[in-house]
Amino acid sequence: MPENSSFDVIISGAGLGGAACAIHLKESGLKIALIDKAVFPRDKICGGGLSDRATNALKRMPANAWENFLESCNYLHLEGISITSPKGETATLNCPVTYGYTVIRREFDAFLLKEALKSNNIKLFSIEKSVAYEYKNEEIIVHTNKQKIKARLLIIADGFNSLLARQTDIFEYKEKNAAVCVQTVFQNPSQKINEKNIELYYPSRCLPFYFWFFPLHDGSVNLGFGVKSNVLRKEKKHILEIYKELLNSDKHIQNKLSGMQQISEPQVALLPLQRLNKRFSAERIMIAGTAAMLVDPISGEGIGNAMLSGEFAANQTLKCFRENNFHASFMKNYDASLKKRLSSEFTRNRMLLELFNHEWLINIGVHKVIANNNFKIKIEEMLIKNTSRWKLVNPIFYI
Ligand SMILES: Cc1cc2nc3c(=O)[nH]c(=O)nc-3n(C[C@H](O)[C@H](O)[C@H](O)COP(=O)(O)OP(=O)(O)OC[C@H]3O[C@@H](n4cnc5c(N)ncnc54)[C@H](O)[C@@H]3O)c2cc1C
Repeated sequence: MPENSSFDVIISGAGLGGAACAIHLKESGLKIALIDKAVFPRDKICGGGLSDRATNALKRMPANAWENFLESCNYLHLEGISITSPKGETATLNCPVTYGYTVIRREFDAFLLKEALKSNNIKLFSIEKSVAYEYKNEEIIVHTNKQKIKARLLIIADGFNSLLARQTDIFEYKEKNAAVCVQTVFQNPSQKINEKNIELYYPSRCLPFYFWFFPLHDGSVNLGFGVKSNVLRKEKKHILEIYKELLNSDKHIQNKLSGMQQISEPQVALLPLQRLNKRFSAERIMIAGTAAMLVDPISGEGIGNAMLSGEFAANQTLKCFRENNFHASFMKNYDASLKKRLSSEFTRNRMLLELFNHEWLINIGVHKVIANNNFKIKIEEMLIKNTSRWKLVNPIFYI
């Protein structure tokens, strides 16, 4: 296998976590190899919802990434979120900051990668799959399906199925906490939908997960849902059978999709919805994004966390090179920064996910938002300011 010239840093995965990391390193002068098995633009199964964590991550990027996003990407700026209970009542919350935008992942990911590649210290190896790594002297060597690439530091950001993350002894994935998801796009051939809210609908069959309807800039709707993997085992059904059954029998879904046609094949993917992992780094290694299972357990959002962890990995990279220290104990600063930001949020949202198993509680909560304006305002404030959200895990709060 040919051995390539060495780099300072290898980033495996040029998705949002990898590209965000590269963008934060593009003015560092470090020589970076960015490896991706795909050729961009490439599709990614996703709802395409950008929350404030993602938009804030974009705003913190150097070289006007945020302005470039607004100028060159298609997006829909959202006004809020509607939540529909299993009973079929819909409550609408106005929080444009929290639920910011919807994008098409194919475009958005290609945009972010293009931002990273504006710097000539970043070399992209596309259509190249990272399969393993090994330590050698003061370096780490990534074996791809084509060659070996050497560097002093490796950032693993190659998503849920990461082979490199699975090779580390810090990898944690709990299948029982994963959602099996279906995602597709619908469009009304004669009329664009003019919706500015994303909607989460909680059919009893999907609890504690939801069915999402995310309006897109072109008047189409990105939709999908998740169910617990053990529900599928119990029902002895494929997720696509459940999808068809929901479309054929659920009144709320039928109303939403009335006059619309499915314009893309439904795709299936797993989404890890677990507690925050204990470790994200090892000697000369950091793991970012979904390779590190950084997906919010209640909302399924992973875009903002991928970009945030990419940024934190870049910050730690700069420290490593400044101090010439790549030891596991020093890399733990990266773990600490992620835990400081995400630990309490993940714990709370895992608890909230348990509550969302109870149909009656969602029915009561949604009804209270509709019937009690003060309660509605309180929830909107929690969502906008990210304060007092621990109240949400107390069932009494909804009664
Ligand atoms: C159905 C579904 C809906 C979702 N909806 C939302 C949503 O609306 N909002 C939200 O915030 N999050 C959502 N998420 C989560 C979000 O998609 C992920 O958390 C996010 O894409 C993580 O980014 P990443 O960069 O870590 O990984 P990815 O986006 O998966 O990127 C990984 C990259 O690595 C490459 N790669 C993979 N393996 C290798 C390899 N061996 N070698 C080299 N390259 C490799 C891939 O080609 C890819 O480009 C959803 C997820 C699913 C499954």
